[in-house]
Amino acid sequence: MTDNQKEQIRTLRLQGLGYTAVADRLGISKDTVKSYCQRNGLAGKRSDSAVESVCPQCGKPIVQSGKHKRRRFCTDECRKTWWVKHHADIKNGAVHSYVCEACGKPFTAYGNTTRKYCSHSCYVSIRFKGGDPS
Ligand SMILES: [Zn+2]
Ligand SMILES: [Zn+2]
Repeated sequence: MTDNQKEQIRTLRLQGLGYTAVADRLGISKDTVKSYCQRNGLAGKRSDSAVESVCPQCGKPIVQSGKHKRRRFCTDECRKTWWVKHHADIKNGAVHSYVCEACGKPFTAYGNTTRKYCSHSCYVSIRFKGGDPS
């Protein structure tokens, strides 16, 4: 697994996606996703605990107070660091934005890939509908 995949697992899990959905999107096995999540505090349902998310920058759990807008990063410092890194990725061409040809949803992918679909299931749905298999 690459660092980018790990980061995407974290992001997708925090968006509430299940192991299968995350695995589909990244094209890796569900077991890989599951064991990574279990080792990194991303396992289980997040809504039944005070800790609702983890900081995407440092991985620390974030306890949401409920009074304020949902926090995504544990500190301002982490937020800034993450955005600087993220924007550098976009500038360097490491992150590409696409629109899924199957469901029409926008998605991003890392690296020099030419992805047409947001997830493996979208890819499969087009392929087996008799669409252009190229
Ligand atoms: Zn942090
Ligand atoms: Zn799609």
